[in-house]
Amino acid sequence: MSVPESGSVKSRMRFAQWLLTTETASGPPIHAAECAECDETSAGADNWEGPQVWCLQHAGRTGHTLFRVTVTGYFRASMQEVL
Ligand SMILES: [Zn+2]
Repeated sequence: MSVPESGSVKSRMRFAQWLLTTETASGPPIHAAECAECDETSAGADNWEGPQVWCLQHAGRTGHTLFRVTVTGYFRASMQEVL
């Protein structure tokens, strides 16, 4: 985009179709849990087993029973076609 001295604005627009896919080359999705009642968190893991065991052990040790869970992964956007 450029602004000529006359004050008008020129712009060029193009339209494209994009595709969003799951990206695994940057690493597997990381599963984790954190206690909703204190700041403790589980270690990250490639699956739910470790965080689930951590939740049960944390509940048994503290009496805290609510957990926030996350899966962190990657999406890759790629341009498919310029329209
Ligand atoms: Zn807790």
